Parts: sequence; C-alpha cells; structure tokens
Amino acid sequence: MSAAATHPEAEKRPVRSNTCSGCEAAWTGLSVAHCAASGCHELFASVSLFDMHRSQDGDHGACIPPGEVQGRNGEQRLLFRDGMWRGPELTEEQRAKLRSVWGGEADDPIPA
Ligand SMILES: [Zn+2]
Ligand SMILES: [Zn+2]
Repeated sequence: MSAAATHPEAEKRPVRSNTCSGCEAAWTGLSVAHCAASGCHELFASVSLFDMHRSQDGDHGACIPPGEVQGRNGEQRLLFRDGMWRGPELTEEQRAKLRSVWGGEADDPIPA
C-alpha cells in the first residue's frame, strides 16, 4: 500500500479536472492517478495500476515503463486505452470496489 501515490494538491481541487504542473496531462476521474516522476508522467486508471509500475529501486523508488510491467506469467499487465494505462480486465465488481476504496477519505497524512 503506497501512501504517497496521489498529488497532494490534486486532493484540494474539484475532482472534475486535474492537471500536472510538470507536463501537459489533464484528466478527469476520481480514481485516476498521474505519475509526476521526471521522465514518466504517465496516467493510470487507478492507484493500484500506478503502484504496479513503481519499483522499490533507489531512495525514492523508480518507474517501470508501464508497457513493460509483467504479471506472473509474463503477460502485459497494463494496456494503454483511451488516453491512459488500464488493467487488462476490470470487471464492474472490481471497479465498484476500487471506487469504494479510493473514493472516500484520503489516507495520506498531510504533515502539519
Ligand atoms: Zn505530469
Ligand atoms: Zn511513473
């Protein structure tokens, strides 16, 4: 579970429209996650997909090119569709679950 997956400032804005200060990306959607790491700036349909492209290398982690993220059987786990990276098969049930997990309170403690 990653606690720092979303932009802190994105949470203060209306969810209708989000932009990145470091690139041209603009997106809508409650669960969409944008990677602001330099050289990456990819959009993901959910935070769990975002987490898949992050590796633990280095002090601050590193990005794996989304197209190279593989599952246990070597299958491609992230597919680019409709402007962002998405999971291969997300059922309506899984979507609802993601919404309930990420649509509520942010679990990201903001330092005082
Ligand atoms: Zn960006
Ligand atoms: Zn990234």
